[in-house]
Amino acid sequence: MQCDRVQELLGAYGDGELSGDERRSMSTHLESCKACGDILADYGRIGRALKRHGRVCAPPVLAARIGAALDQIESELPSAVLQPARRFALAGRVFDMRGFARRAASLAAACFIGALAAWNFVDAAGQSDRMERDVLNAHMRSLLQESPVQVASNDKHNVQPWFAGRTDFAPAVKDLAEDGFPLVGGRLDYVADRRVGVVVYKRGLHMINVFMWPSPSSADSAPRIVTRKGYNLLSWSRSGVSYWAASDLNSEEMRTLSRLL
Ligand SMILES: [Zn+2]
Repeated sequence: MQCDRVQELLGAYGDGELSGDERRSMSTHLESCKACGDILADYGRIGRALKRHGRVCAPPVLAARIGAALDQIESELPSAVLQPARRFALAGRVFDMRGFARRAASLAAACFIGALAAWNFVDAAGQSDRMERDVLNAHMRSLLQESPVQVASNDKHNVQPWFAGRTDFAPAVKDLAEDGFPLVGGRLDYVADRRVGVVVYKRGLHMINVFMWPSPSSADSAPRIVTRKGYNLLSWSRSGVSYWAASDLNSEEMRTLSRLL
């Protein structure tokens, strides 16, 4: 008998529900397998602890309701999840607490995994939401200043060196005038709890802030656009650098800029 089959039958074995042959095979396996023996010992401990609290007699109505609810749950979940718990019985209106405990444990595990997945999802969504807000706020702040840049120049050879010593990561500055995105300059800003370099470009009358910071662990990702309060925010990762561009420029031209950077 293999361990997984033995572990599947441990509950029935402990409850004395197995046939003679199965019972003998189980005993032989358990004599030599410590892993399965430990699980059986755990079952025993849980059973004894529950026994100390006695058996609880549920009123017939409650027993019927719980039975119906569990049947409903079971019909909606894959059988592999709940199969081991099917021994749950409401014999003579007596609620079998051990069976119930095992079944509850299966359900609790399923719920916990679900909650963990949901938490991760909500957490990631929350982080992304916060980032969007931070970038948009930084963009708006820059528009409220007399100048959105601390070093004003359309020459990358003036802007690039300005960042040296001001941030631990010097953002790449490009000369994109011929592509219709003349350089305005650069500045420092504060986004997602860090000091970041910002390179500012223009398209007609539209100002575009491009925020950059190192993110060595992020995989390359295609540009993703979101619109907030009428502004387009485009984010992508490339070669260990995270990029966020913010502007009231249309999304098509934002994407063009992302390809040029
Ligand atoms: Zn085993």
